[in-house]
Amino acid sequence: MTAVPHDPNCIFCKIIAGQIPSKKVYEDEEIFAFHDIHPWAPVHFLMVPKLHIPSMAQVGTEHAALLGRMMALAPKLALQEGCRPYPEGGFRIVCNTGEDGGQEVHHLHVHVIGGPRPWLKG
Ligand code: 5GP
Ligand code: ZN
Repeated sequence: MTAVPHDPNCIFCKIIAGQIPSKKVYEDEEIFAFHDIHPWAPVHFLMVPKLHIPSMAQVGTEHAALLGRMMALAPKLALQEGCRPYPEGGFRIVCNTGEDGGQEVHHLHVHVIGGPRPWLKG
């Protein structure tokens, strides 16, 4: 079990804790990344803070360093997972927030999506 505050009913907290299996892409003290179970594209993984923050709507300046680290890590993981180099390649970062934003899992996550098109979505 992680020492970071978590929600015992949250599916992504359970993935972070290893209670639900996932295909891990990356892990450090603050960040966990794993393959999306229903990929839209050849590369599709999720990056989450280990801290249970429900969505971007709850983010404040106290989370700036954490989110900055996530964004700074994304390009490295994207290449590692098979996204082609910029500018011919690249990737898309998506952060669905709330009902109108199409968010289904209420633990802050960014989708990192890439690889040759066509994609199933997006
Ligand atoms: P949202 O719509 O909340 O932005 O996206 C949630 C994402 O989590 C979806 O793309 C969905 O496929 C993925 N997902 C939901 N449950 C699981 C799971 O148990 N394991 C993994 N690896 N991905 C999941
Ligand atoms: Zn959670």
